[in-house]
Amino acid sequence: MTPAVFEPATPLAPPAGRTTNDLIRQQNLASVLSLLHSRGALSRAQLGATTGLNRSTVTGLVMELTELGLVREAPGGERTGKVGRPTLDIEPEDHVAALSVRAEPHAVTVALVGLGGVVHARLRHDTASPPSPRRFVQIVESSVEAMRADIDRHYRVVGAGLAVPGLVNANGSVLVSPTLGWKRDPVAARLSDQLGMPVTAGNDASIGALAESRFGVGVGVGNLLYLGGAMHSIGGGLIIDGTLLRGTSGYAGELGHTVVDPRGRRCVCGRRGCLEAEVSLDILEPLLGRRKLDEDELDVELGVARNPRVMTEVTRQVEVLSIALTNFVNAFSPETVVLSGYLGALLSVSRERLADAVRVHPLGAEGRTIRLERAHLRSRLMLVGPAELAFADLLSNPAGFRG
Ligand SMILES: [Zn+2]
Repeated sequence: MTPAVFEPATPLAPPAGRTTNDLIRQQNLASVLSLLHSRGALSRAQLGATTGLNRSTVTGLVMELTELGLVREAPGGERTGKVGRPTLDIEPEDHVAALSVRAEPHAVTVALVGLGGVVHARLRHDTASPPSPRRFVQIVESSVEAMRADIDRHYRVVGAGLAVPGLVNANGSVLVSPTLGWKRDPVAARLSDQLGMPVTAGNDASIGALAESRFGVGVGVGNLLYLGGAMHSIGGGLIIDGTLLRGTSGYAGELGHTVVDPRGRRCVCGRRGCLEAEVSLDILEPLLGRRKLDEDELDVELGVARNPRVMTEVTRQVEVLSIALTNFVNAFSPETVVLSGYLGALLSVSRERLADAVRVHPLGAEGRTIRLERAHLRSRLMLVGPAELAFADLLSNPAGFRG
C-alpha cells in the first residue's frame, strides 16, 4: 500500500545542477526516515526488506541520517547468529521536534512533538470565548515562551504546524472558521512572524486523517474515510489511493456540512440541518447536565447514562449519523472508516447500528465489509497531527536539514 503523503509529486527531470543519482539518494533518504518516523525502531534488515533497498545502500543511508542527527542506534529486539549477539536497531532522533498548535473555540493547545510522534510536552490554555486571531497568536507565543528554556536546552525545532477547524488554503490562510469566528485571516503568516519559524496550517480533520494513516488505525490503508475531529464540529478527511484528497484550494472533505435534514437545526454555516448541527455534543451536554466535556470524560458519562432523554437523543443522533455514513461510504468506497472525537464516543456506545450503516449493498450485490474503527490516537491525535505538517519538508528531503 502507498503511504499517505502531503508532498507534491517528484518532478520528472532533476533540477539544474543535480543529477538523477542525487534525486534517487534524496528519495531513498526520505523513504528510510519516513519509515522510521511512522513505525519507530527497525533493524537494518527490516529497513532493507520494507524499502527493497540492498544491505550496503541501507547502511550508507543510515550513516548519512545519523550524521545529520536525524536517527540514532538503539538496542534491538533481534539476535544474530548462534552466539546471540544482540543487534542494534535504528530509531528516529526524537530531540528533532516540531511545535504542534491547535485552535479550538474554548482552548488553545501547544505541544512539543519529536520525530516518531513522541509528545514531549503540552500546554493547554482555556479561553472563555473563541479567541480572535491576534489573541490566539499571543496565547501561542506565551505558551512557547513557557517552554523556551527546555526547548533551547534539549531540542532542535524544525517549525510549527497548526490545526484549524475551518477552511484553510495552501498558504495557511483561513478562509472561514465558523466555530472560531475567523474570516480571511493569514494566521500561519502571523504566527510565523511572531515565533520566527516556518508555520504550516491545515484543516483539523485533514490533519487527523493524515495522523491516523501514519501512526494509528490507518497504517497501510490506501483508502480511508475519516470523520470527526473536534468535540463541537465535524470535519472530514479523505485518503484516496494513498493521498490526502485536497480538492479546489484544499477545501475537500467538508462532510460536516452535508445536509441531512433541510428543515433541521440552524448550522453555524448558515444552512439548516447540516450533519454537524444534527449530530452534536452541544445538544447532548445540557441533557447530561455537563459542559465542555473532553473525549475521555464523555466516554465515562455515556457509559453510565441511564436518563431516558439522553438515551433517546443518542439514538436519534446515531440514526442521523448512520444515514450520512451510508452515503459517504457509497460515494468514496473506503476500505476503512475512522470516527474520532465526539463521533468516536458515539461509536463506542452504538457499534452495531453504525457497523450496519457501512455494510454496503450496491444494487443488491453481496455486502462488502468495510472496517469501522474509532481513532486509535485518541487524545494524542491532535497533538501528533499538526506536527506532521511541520515535519513534511524534513521527511521529503532529510539532506536539506543541515546545521
Ligand atoms: Zn453547516
